[in-house]
Amino acid sequence: MSSRKKSSGGIGRNAVPATPTAVARYFDRLPGGFARCALCHRRCLLSPGSFGACRVRRNAGGTLELPFYGMASAVSIDPIEKKPLYHFLPGSSTYSVGYVGCNLRCPFCQNFSISQSTDAPVQRLDPAGLAESALRASCPSISHTYSEPIVHAEFVEASMRAARAVGLKNVLVTNGCAGADAASSLLSLCDAVNVDIKCWDADFYHDELGGDLETVKAFAETAFRFGTHLEVTTLIVPGKNDDDAQVDSIAAFLASLSPDIPLHISAYRPMYRYAVPATPPRTVRRLVETAKRRLRYVYAGNVSGAPSITECRDCGSVLVSRRGYAVDRSGLAGGRCASCGAVVPMVDLPKEIF
Ligand code: SF4
Repeated sequence: MSSRKKSSGGIGRNAVPATPTAVARYFDRLPGGFARCALCHRRCLLSPGSFGACRVRRNAGGTLELPFYGMASAVSIDPIEKKPLYHFLPGSSTYSVGYVGCNLRCPFCQNFSISQSTDAPVQRLDPAGLAESALRASCPSISHTYSEPIVHAEFVEASMRAARAVGLKNVLVTNGCAGADAASSLLSLCDAVNVDIKCWDADFYHDELGGDLETVKAFAETAFRFGTHLEVTTLIVPGKNDDDAQVDSIAAFLASLSPDIPLHISAYRPMYRYAVPATPPRTVRRLVETAKRRLRYVYAGNVSGAPSITECRDCGSVLVSRRGYAVDRSGLAGGRCASCGAVVPMVDLPKEIF
């Protein structure tokens, strides 16, 4: 599940589940035609003919097949800030691709029509064609986003290789619930990742969401260790994860890696199976202040009001100012503060691009 809202700019066609064209990695054959998927923390045991919990990986004769390989439910050009990534190529557009299916069951999923079903209209993509499309659209990056890309790891990896071959950057927007092998493989090809850390309550993660907090923490640690640009999002659901202690724990975990990791604290809106009223903006702002005690860059998401600003730590000048998806990056020049020249902890495009 992704907490980030899907673009309305998708260009899907009527869904036709593909004839199986690809075989999965990350599984073990078992006696009796069974198979054990090793892609994510669930480690589904699949009987012959059955699908895993993500709905997109199927046991065909003891082999895991991928009937939705390369099937995109949405393709759109988005501001990179929409992922959200605030410290990676700020002000740029990213060629964004969404799929179907998810390995989590978040009852408040903001994209449930594509994450909790495989019935959405889809179009078939191929990795090289996707990279060509992104180049034609003058996007410096491709984002795998909207639904959960990890359950399509094989296609995402192939696309990331094709993107790198033509000089594009790769972005992953994910719940971080990948096994160690898949996490390493994906992140070794990835330039930037936004990981949902949905709460700091292992029981809630498991029982309510179908996820695993330790797996998500390990994913974030691997991204950091690999040098992949890392940002984190926490969607605040009233009465579920809106206490200061949980947000403080998330911030402390990130600060133990680096206090420069940006954290996005976002307001939830009633969706899918949750009718809990929307998160009050004052709650988001309070939790932003809580996280700021440990982290240098904490941003409020899905709340209106003052622009979201990043300042230079050396001279205090405004580097980037964002209001909605309108971005003023005039204080930033090729990864340095335009006023004092200090290097800033952002991945930026060369100065001449903007
Ligand atoms: S990726 Fe899908 S099939 Fe594999 S373990 Fe996870 S939920 Fe199960």
